[in-house]
Amino acid sequence: MSIKNQSKLQRFGELQQARVIALFSLVGMSITFLMMCFAIKNANITLAISLLFASAVYGVAFYLVNNKNHVKLSSYIIIYSLYALMLYLVYSGGVASTGPLWIFIVPPVSLYVHGLRRGLINITVFVLLICLIMFIPQSVYAHAIYPIEFKLRLLYSFLTISFLSALYEYSRSQLYNNALELNQKLHHLAHYDDLTGLHNRRDAQRKLNKKIAVADTSKPLSILLCDIDFFKLVNDKYGHSAGDAVLTELSQVFKASLRETDYVARWGGEEFLFILAQTDQAAAFDVAERLRCAVFKHTVSLDDEDIKVTISIGIKEYQQDLTSDQLINDADKALYEAKRLGRNRSIPA
Ligand code: GH3
Ligand code: MG
Ligand code: MG
Repeated sequence: MSIKNQSKLQRFGELQQARVIALFSLVGMSITFLMMCFAIKNANITLAISLLFASAVYGVAFYLVNNKNHVKLSSYIIIYSLYALMLYLVYSGGVASTGPLWIFIVPPVSLYVHGLRRGLINITVFVLLICLIMFIPQSVYAHAIYPIEFKLRLLYSFLTISFLSALYEYSRSQLYNNALELNQKLHHLAHYDDLTGLHNRRDAQRKLNKKIAVADTSKPLSILLCDIDFFKLVNDKYGHSAGDAVLTELSQVFKASLRETDYVARWGGEEFLFILAQTDQAAAFDVAERLRCAVFKHTVSLDDEDIKVTISIGIKEYQQDLTSDQLINDADKALYEAKRLGRNRSIPA
């Protein structure tokens, strides 16, 4: 699969994540602001200041992800300020000792933002910290007092929510990975030939049309249409799977003989199309001869057989206003001429 296509789906995943992070920060900013209003109403000034600070931090996170596209930085800000706020609410008790009720936000947000492994590690550290805050005796330091039943049930329900969130995150990431894999397979099927691994005919047609669209006289363009000589005899003599092995091995020979800018596709059964950018007819002839000689010298060694084949090649340089079909037709006529003249040769149109 091409990196381009892979990154397309990954970019989609990243875009989704950026949207969710932006939404988290927006919701976080609004909720903490609302909580601050309640804290002011209850004359809890320290809590109100903490919430105002948290709201501002979420605002900054929203600005970073929305305007600057800093998804990672923004997600770190959200997560760690969320932990800090939750720990503070557990420590202070929030409004009428209801502060700890907010900690249930932590598992889903941690797992979504950091993934399963890192999310679970963060949740574990978070649980240890809230245990430390709630269970340390008042004599060591002063903190909100909760009944033991409340503390235990808070922990049980927090662990249950964490487990369910982890399960959900696990299936979500499995589904995402499956979709990614399926997408890779579909992309491969759409662009590549299964047997040889070369580009397929559809991809070649697309490529040729693209090249023609940007071709001009300063940038010549040529194509080669290549056909294996007497390939039917190879199948008849050695069997179809030996024929397949020849096609696969010749594809490697072609790839090895081409320049970086050249393109080769399996055009049909035992026909190959080469698209040579920045190449005029004379240079294309040189490439064709190089390919022909490489195949001529090559021996396909199977278990108990050595197979030698030759190829014939039709060459056509792109002329202004030719369509891709006309270009292929002209190359095909030249190929036919190469066959007629005895095969194992390259003929310009
Ligand atoms: P010529 O020199 O005129 O091209 O002769 P030829 O025998 O190569 O031409 P023809 O078109 O008569 O035969 C092409 C053969 O290629 C027939 C077909 O069985 C074989 N072929 C096409 N695709 C495949 C394939 O995927 N695998 C194998 N093993 N053979 C294939
Ligand atoms: Mg043929
Ligand atoms: Mg043939």
